[in-house]
Amino acid sequence: AKKNGKNHFVFYEDITDKHLYKYLLNLKNDLADAIANNEFFLEYQPIMDNKGERIQAVEALIRWNHPKEGLIAPLRFIPLAEETGMMKDIGDWVIRNAVKDLQKWNQENGQSLSLAINVSKAQLRFKKELIELIDEVLEEQEFPAHQLQIEITESDTAAEHEEIVDFINELKRRNIQVALDDFGVGTSSLYHLLELDVDIVKIDRSFLRQVPASEKDTALLKGIYSTLYDLNIQLVTEGIETEEQRDFVSAKNGSYLQGFYFSKPVLLEELKKMQEAWEKTLL
Ligand code: C2E
Ligand code: MG
Ligand code: MG
Ligand code: MG
Repeated sequence: AKKNGKNHFVFYEDITDKHLYKYLLNLKNDLADAIANNEFFLEYQPIMDNKGERIQAVEALIRWNHPKEGLIAPLRFIPLAEETGMMKDIGDWVIRNAVKDLQKWNQENGQSLSLAINVSKAQLRFKKELIELIDEVLEEQEFPAHQLQIEITESDTAAEHEEIVDFINELKRRNIQVALDDFGVGTSSLYHLLELDVDIVKIDRSFLRQVPASEKDTALLKGIYSTLYDLNIQLVTEGIETEEQRDFVSAKNGSYLQGFYFSKPVLLEELKKMQEAWEKTLL
């Protein structure tokens, strides 16, 4: 029986691996048609001013509505898209649609929200084409360059340093803002930050998890704030989920605020309602 049990276990594990393998393979194949089949859509998460009163910007976040599997999170399919060389097309799709949609929304609502768009490592491999696309889309949509923020992830900047510096400089020449995303969880040092001439640093939400409950975490976050503040970098703190966290961050050096406390990512159609509801709570 023991032997059977063991065999059974191995057999079972074997099957799950096969299932997982097949599942991932299917997803990769399905990704190839996802743009043509209109399976991607964008949600937008508000980025609030330091007091948490007004929306300053929105961050575009991609979602994949898979016909059989349902909604698949970006952290799940983006690595697959990068592996299979499909991230360039998907990234281009995001830029085209996000700029077009927010420009229209801004005009219809008489507002001028900025737009933050994430760009991943695989997209940076086609840096020249990426810049060309951004130029083309901004011109076509007449979206002001200074209202566009390109977010690059800190851990992606460690490799191919010169390429990244070059990319950042190209963006800055156009008055496009550059944000360093997920700051503090990567392997790069503060010195590395000095070499990258970014406008905005987005502090990873892991720093907030124990704030203000943990004294150490709170002290660390305070230290990060004052260092970056002295460097003249605009801050965004991600992952604000509670009023306590909002109060803590609001009291510090002018960081912008982003997190579920204000709003989860929503469809653009819902943004106006969300904004009005939020403004009502301030009265
Ligand atoms: P990110 O750029 O750091 O985006 C913020 C993520 O944190 C989003 O997850 C958002 O839903 C989540 N978030 C925001 N506020 C809170 C909060 O208060 N609590 C918690 N627990 N989470 C919060 P999402 O949409 O699942 O995206 C995950 C990552 O996938 C993004 O992290 C980004 O790196 C990547 N991604 C998403 N959309 C795109 C895209 O269009 N292009 C590229 N290249 N990457 C994207
Ligand atoms: Mg981001
Ligand atoms: Mg990101
Ligand atoms: Mg982030």
